[in-house]
Amino acid sequence: MGKRLSIVGSILLCFSLLGCTSHHALESLKMELQQVQSLRRLLPLPPGLYDYRGAVHVHSFLSHDSQGTKEEIVQAAKIAGLHFVVMTDHQNPDIFKKRFGGIHDGILVIQGMEISLPSCSRRPCTSLLAIGLSSYFDPSALSLKETLDTIRQQGAITFVAHPRQEDALDLDTITGMEIYDVLDDVLDKKWFYPKLFFDILYSHKKYAEQVFLSIQDYPEAHLALWDRLQKRRKIVGIAGNDAHQNTRVLGRQLDPYATSFRFVSTHLLADTLSETSLLAALQSGHAYVAFDLLADPAGFLFSATSDGKEAIMGESIDFTPGQTLTVQSPQEGLIALIKDGKRIFQCRCAFLTYPVAGPGVYRAEVFLQIQHRRRPWIFSNPIYIW
Ligand SMILES: [Zn+2]
Repeated sequence: MGKRLSIVGSILLCFSLLGCTSHHALESLKMELQQVQSLRRLLPLPPGLYDYRGAVHVHSFLSHDSQGTKEEIVQAAKIAGLHFVVMTDHQNPDIFKKRFGGIHDGILVIQGMEISLPSCSRRPCTSLLAIGLSSYFDPSALSLKETLDTIRQQGAITFVAHPRQEDALDLDTITGMEIYDVLDDVLDKKWFYPKLFFDILYSHKKYAEQVFLSIQDYPEAHLALWDRLQKRRKIVGIAGNDAHQNTRVLGRQLDPYATSFRFVSTHLLADTLSETSLLAALQSGHAYVAFDLLADPAGFLFSATSDGKEAIMGESIDFTPGQTLTVQSPQEGLIALIKDGKRIFQCRCAFLTYPVAGPGVYRAEVFLQIQHRRRPWIFSNPIYIW
């Protein structure tokens, strides 16, 4: 009896220690983030360009695996400070019968559809996000090529979600791919679930956003694939929020839309908040991915200057001697410059200039040092120097 009591006592002690550790770490993360965010600087963008923050890859009650309403999505977008949302419910005709594209309470909603690919060996399956569709078509009756042609004929653009099947990416009509997807990040590290479970059990009520942040990782495989594909052709990188608001554990809603939207986002540099303007920015790669829950990245810019002219991320220019690359960041961090998939320069700074040594695909990453850990914060789209 005494032995049994001491085992129960040890287990309870163990649980309360884990609870205390979880609480302490998350409180310190919250405090440190507030400190970092207080140092943010306001930065100018090139004339006529504005930074529009949005969530791409969002599901609602029009998908079989979500109950989210239009009102909840718009309200959450406002709370998260978004300017736009790209709806990508799973393929079905109701998406277009009950669509809610257009401006709602100041939030631009762009209509899209998530299309499953027939073959899939590893979950979540690679799929296509058709963005800017005007009407429904049934992709299950079409070949992949016919599907992509139909999307293009409607004036829409295609991004690859959950990019795990490389063969689905090597297609001329695809605009880009997710370089980070929330679901991929969660499913790729099951070893982490016990710790996550304790954080949810003990700390979710008080530190919901910090618990959500604990899933964040450097998307190494996605970025490696992206860099590899960029050698063949331009592929625009976006974030996949894959927001469903459908995960409850121990009675706690782990993925409310507002937190999913704040966690990671796709920023577009465009002239106006209109569907035409944002789709053009998306197609051009005038975009970067950022974990906004760490700090507000608006004002970030990756550009190249030659002969007094400026090119921004997503653009292509011819190589000429004397060109420089510039990264400006609203927070000091570790800024890394990548050329053809390899890191060529880095500094702990908020502003970086670098002389271009030759043609290549250049992009920038920014990391923030938080809790003795280097956290990925921003991934720019590349500048292509030929
Ligand atoms: Zn999805």
